[in-house]
Amino acid sequence: SPSLVWFRDDLRVADNPALHVALERGGPIMGLYVLEESGGIRPLGGAARWWLHGSLASLADELRARGSTLVLRRGDPATVVPAVVDELGAGAVFWNRRYGGIERGIDAGIKAALRAHGTEVASFSASLLFEPWTVQTGSGTPYAVFTPFWRACRSLPAPRAPQPAPDTIPGPSAIPRSDDLAAWELRPAHPDWAEGLAELWEPGEPAATARLAQFLADDLADYDRARDEPAAESTARLSPRLRWGELSPHQVWHAAVQHREADASRFLSELGWREFAWHTLFHFPDLATKNWRAEFDAFPWPRLNRDHLAAWQRGRTGVALVDAGMRELWRTGFMHNRVRMVTASFLVKNLLIDWRHGEEWFWDTLVDADAASNAFNWQWVAGSGADAAPYFRIFNPERQRDRFDPNAEYIRRWAPEHLAADPPAPIVDLAGTRRQALDAYDAVTHAR
Ligand code: FAD
Repeated sequence: SPSLVWFRDDLRVADNPALHVALERGGPIMGLYVLEESGGIRPLGGAARWWLHGSLASLADELRARGSTLVLRRGDPATVVPAVVDELGAGAVFWNRRYGGIERGIDAGIKAALRAHGTEVASFSASLLFEPWTVQTGSGTPYAVFTPFWRACRSLPAPRAPQPAPDTIPGPSAIPRSDDLAAWELRPAHPDWAEGLAELWEPGEPAATARLAQFLADDLADYDRARDEPAAESTARLSPRLRWGELSPHQVWHAAVQHREADASRFLSELGWREFAWHTLFHFPDLATKNWRAEFDAFPWPRLNRDHLAAWQRGRTGVALVDAGMRELWRTGFMHNRVRMVTASFLVKNLLIDWRHGEEWFWDTLVDADAASNAFNWQWVAGSGADAAPYFRIFNPERQRDRFDPNAEYIRRWAPEHLAADPPAPIVDLAGTRRQALDAYDAVTHAR
């Protein structure tokens, strides 16, 4: 009987354990993607939807080229998946695991229901290097600090080697109905705000594989030195690839180690931060909405100043590095990590706006927005998260600009008016708001 492979955040044919096991089982294989828009799943942001369209189109091509098919459906997977199993006459369903709380509940329910009907079901580890339940402190609790977390990960057996893409994937003879991808309208029509995204990115596994090779050849050797300079564009830019699973972290890990065994460790530890964020979400599913440190619930946020929030979103704060970063984000769906930290710190600690407003904006505008990394890093900057920056560490955006964009290349690219003789003035006084933030944080720490 045919096997059904339910694709989710693993839009690739290489190193895909669910697909691999379906091939080992033998018989025809069909791929399924379900656009989930209910059941408590957080709706995708605009930039993410744009990416998903391209990545699904590419996955459909990759499957077709090998003899198989991708069927698209939208709705509640608890009804859609069993229905497609019936239509296909599938004897087995395979998927790779997800780690969000709601997603885990959905998947467990579907697994139980299918098994009750005699369908074989199995799920696999594919999106993380280490399963969250395998990394624990000596007393059996999750790690709250990165360094010992990563040391514990590195003491486990090395991540498994990736599997190559199969040459052929036998498809079923009768294919159930599929939605038309274009009819999902994941990409904007009028106005098409996504032009800048299309200029920079080509979603899909082949482009992801090419980017990994290019990064290793051109930039990995100098990664430790150049990674903090936004103008250099020398980081991997693999985050949307990992977000959508066009590459597995295993592929990235092993490719980096093979390329430069001796000095890949800084880069590998960045993959470690991704693991840490996902493990934290696994243990604390409310990461995007609740302070990880409960004492921050008492933070005396002033009334939301919507003008300030809008100025930040549009890159009109009058602070050069913040404006440049926010415009890069709007135009390209991406922002360099250093600038993400500076723009986030400015929102929380100079505009005194709750980190959740920033998290939401990034969720809507980043092509790599994922449930763990976005919330985790926002909480890191806000000081409310696991192993967070201490509250008194407030980035000075002007000093950050001098240090990491000394030749003003990044500012020139994204916010050149700041280089004019009469640059825009900041919408808030940096020193005054910094003091205000420190007072507010004091209130939180003393309330403990
Ligand atoms: P590289 O420096 O080349 O790193 C390689 C890979 O390691 C990245 O692709 C990414 O998968 C991982 N990584 C590196 N740093 C981090 C980190 N701090 N946390 C988690 N993973 C990391 N990253 C996301 O993938 N999705 C998000 O939604 C996201 N939101 C963020 C929000 C804020 C406020 C901040 C400060 C950071 C956020 N990051 C997020 C982390 C980081 O900025 C991006 O992963 C990184 O900029 C991606 O660029 P790169 O691929 O060139 O990174």
